[in-house]
Amino acid sequence: MKLRPSWQQTQFSWRNVLWIGAVHLIALAGAVPFFSWQGLIAFGILYYVTGMLGITFCFHRLLTHHGYTAPRWLENFTALCGTLACQGGPINWVATHRVHHAYSDTPRDPHDVTRGFWHSHAGWLVNLRCDIRDYEDYKNYAPDLVKRPFFVFLENNMIFVQVILGGLLFLLGGFVFGKVAGGFDLFMGLSLIVYGIFLRMVAVYHITWFVNSAAHTWGDNANKISDHSKNNWWVALLAFGEGWHNNHHAHARFARHGWYWWQFDQTWILIRCLEAVGILKDVVRPVLEEGTRSQPDGATAKT
Ligand SMILES: [Zn+2]
Ligand SMILES: [Zn+2]
Repeated sequence: MKLRPSWQQTQFSWRNVLWIGAVHLIALAGAVPFFSWQGLIAFGILYYVTGMLGITFCFHRLLTHHGYTAPRWLENFTALCGTLACQGGPINWVATHRVHHAYSDTPRDPHDVTRGFWHSHAGWLVNLRCDIRDYEDYKNYAPDLVKRPFFVFLENNMIFVQVILGGLLFLLGGFVFGKVAGGFDLFMGLSLIVYGIFLRMVAVYHITWFVNSAAHTWGDNANKISDHSKNNWWVALLAFGEGWHNNHHAHARFARHGWYWWQFDQTWILIRCLEAVGILKDVVRPVLEEGTRSQPDGATAKT
């Protein structure tokens, strides 16, 4: 993959600093005063919907690496879920991640861990690379995605879809879960927004960023590959199997990142279920290659 000429330029992003700062502030300030069990349930459901269905299942294993094929409706629905994680639209996310794999842990990697833990975690979002930001860049890094009108819509309307979700949560909390008979419960409406939007967004931000930082810093280089990727069990638990990141860097197209029974991979369980009912096809499974130390549990030669 050839980088765009502007890859060495960066621009300080006030937009990202203010956005990420405000989201963290609201989440921390609102967590105690706006706690409710209903809010916590909204947090849990949306953590899975945006983090697993959206980011790991769709943006990562499907759109970036083509680890399986899915019907168009499922691609579009899960891409909407991924956009609700507010980490950029599908095209920007995929373009960034493809560059990361092409140049892992080198100066050309957007979140190069050799520049320090903080840079790979969130610092790279403060000083944004200038080669992954507009249509010409996306045509270079994700030509398959720029042809999809719905993905372009999501790319341009990330905040709009979040506001719609927030409005729905506000109404659901106020009218359905509220304790004001026949009226609107403002506390419950705000509780669902604080937990379902802001705290959930902060949690999904950090588990995604830990894949770039912690899973390139701490853990096992099980596949003896030359980059810094690691298999990290706690990142895998928090990030739906993505912490088996050394496996993933060794064989990026495999839909399964946790190759052994003890490498818990929640996204893989979802993929297997959807494959079993005939929704997913062409699932790329771990295969033995020269130099692999042992055969992944349950691996088949099917690709
Ligand atoms: Zn990586
Ligand atoms: Zn990847």
